[in-house]
Amino acid sequence: MAELPGIERETLEMDVVIVGGGPGGLATAMHLARLIKQHNDSGKGEKLEGLSIALLEKGKEIGSHGISGAVMDPRALDELIPDWRKKDCPAVAVGTDEMWYLTESGKIKAPIMPPPLQNHGNYVVSLAELLRWMEPFVAEAPEMNIFPEFPAARVLIEAGKVVGVRTADKGIDKNGEAKGNFEPGIDIRAKIVILAEGPRGTLTKQLYEQFDLGKGKNPQVFALGVKEIWEVPAGRFKPGQVIHTMGFPLDKETFGGAFIYGMKDNLVDIGMVVGLDARNPTTDSHHELQRLKTHPAIRAILEGGKLVAAGAKAIPEGGYFSMPKMWGDGFMIVGDSASYLNGARLKGVHLAMKSGMLAAEAALEALVAGDYSDAKLGAYERKFEASWAKTELWKDRNFHQGFEHGLYAGMINAGLGMITGGRGFGVANRLEATAGHERMERIKRYFASDDPHPPEKIKFDGKLTFDKVTDVYYGGVVHEENQPAHLLIRDTEVCITKCTEEYGNPCLHFCPANVYEPRPTDDGRGKVPFLNFTNCFHCKTCDILDPYQVITWVPPEGGGGPNYKKL
Ligand code: SF4
Repeated sequence: MAELPGIERETLEMDVVIVGGGPGGLATAMHLARLIKQHNDSGKGEKLEGLSIALLEKGKEIGSHGISGAVMDPRALDELIPDWRKKDCPAVAVGTDEMWYLTESGKIKAPIMPPPLQNHGNYVVSLAELLRWMEPFVAEAPEMNIFPEFPAARVLIEAGKVVGVRTADKGIDKNGEAKGNFEPGIDIRAKIVILAEGPRGTLTKQLYEQFDLGKGKNPQVFALGVKEIWEVPAGRFKPGQVIHTMGFPLDKETFGGAFIYGMKDNLVDIGMVVGLDARNPTTDSHHELQRLKTHPAIRAILEGGKLVAAGAKAIPEGGYFSMPKMWGDGFMIVGDSASYLNGARLKGVHLAMKSGMLAAEAALEALVAGDYSDAKLGAYERKFEASWAKTELWKDRNFHQGFEHGLYAGMINAGLGMITGGRGFGVANRLEATAGHERMERIKRYFASDDPHPPEKIKFDGKLTFDKVTDVYYGGVVHEENQPAHLLIRDTEVCITKCTEEYGNPCLHFCPANVYEPRPTDDGRGKVPFLNFTNCFHCKTCDILDPYQVITWVPPEGGGGPNYKKL
């Protein structure tokens, strides 16, 4: 984490600070501002006047780091902005809805759609565009202060209570020295800190460790979503057309599938979700997406079109039983950071929004009472337990765990879950889960050879299939080059020795942006990953999946990273 020691820092006093401008963070901010107004207009109790709320976003602007499938269930947006359909929201109503099982060269269309994947009444959206559309509704509140290009680097904790956050320093060179444009990070002190950082949030991870928030829960299990936006010939794919696929190119042990969604202006959203709990240490989600596009049924959709955007992001798949204790003294956690995602439905945007609204309600009660303690903010969990978000997540609580035993076992478990109210294989209510990096197998064992040779990757043709660096370019990824790398490897000796020998350096495969590049060590002992950190999509996969857990992703200088459009 780029933070110069011994620096005098400005302190900003706020009432509430929200970290992250995704759907959870924006919904928190908007709903809280509305509740404050309603409270003040009600004439009940003391007025909450002169409050200030800060919303920090690490990207260049709200939406620039926003990426999701996405077919959005509008349930939360209906509560947040009831007349959103009349306000030029960039959303297309789902029309047709299909499920394909792909073999190497053929496809079988499912005669009926599995209920979790039925999308009638839902909307195809670009999350990046949806967030940009939401921002003005948030910004109009008088107490709101939106700070783009302000990554939060750490949580401020005093006497066991969260009292604020520190933003990252700016203008540090690659050797860790201050440059001419150096600006120290600010300490933003607040009565309540709400983390809405998305999957594997940096501050959320700090709180997990500090307060043991995952105690008694299943570990979080992730997938990686890699997607591209294509412009295809007019009439080829209808706006609102939705296809999900299973089978090719994934093997029967790897969790995942593909999605193809029609957007306006002949744009097609195509992506793959691949479990970050695969046994194969050479699993490469980017490569699987490129292979998917070579399938005749998919090629027929894209041929003659052109790539217009690309990106990647981790997805928390663990569901209800992987939800951490999501509050404590002075803080709450919302959205993907707190596992608000329904893997069975491939949906999280509505749950992230709802979680933000529930946290906002708890925050209002705390502000009125002047009490920001663990006991008071526990209202957030009680509200969740009484909400439709809990009902939805509870129904699919054992979904992902079934796939630990392969695709078919996962499908049977999912089917059983539908008729047992979510119990699935579980004799008790809860199926245990294993963290993805612990499921990864050693390379010799996986390939059953003392001299393993993983299958050759396909050659990218630059027309239908693209290498990782091209996708990075289409993600609009830009970072200041003269800054410290934001991937911290605790012990590179592990990379050179154990990881090469035992796992074949999985980071060379799982990173969708080619950030990790093997280079010979100076003493010729082996290879060490050189960090092309300026390529980073901020997907967090390396922080999640490294088998030795020696990689920590920290925020780079504010404004760096992707500039997603249409994703
Ligand atoms: Fe994702 Fe890590 Fe690669 Fe960045 S370096 S793109 S966070 S895997």
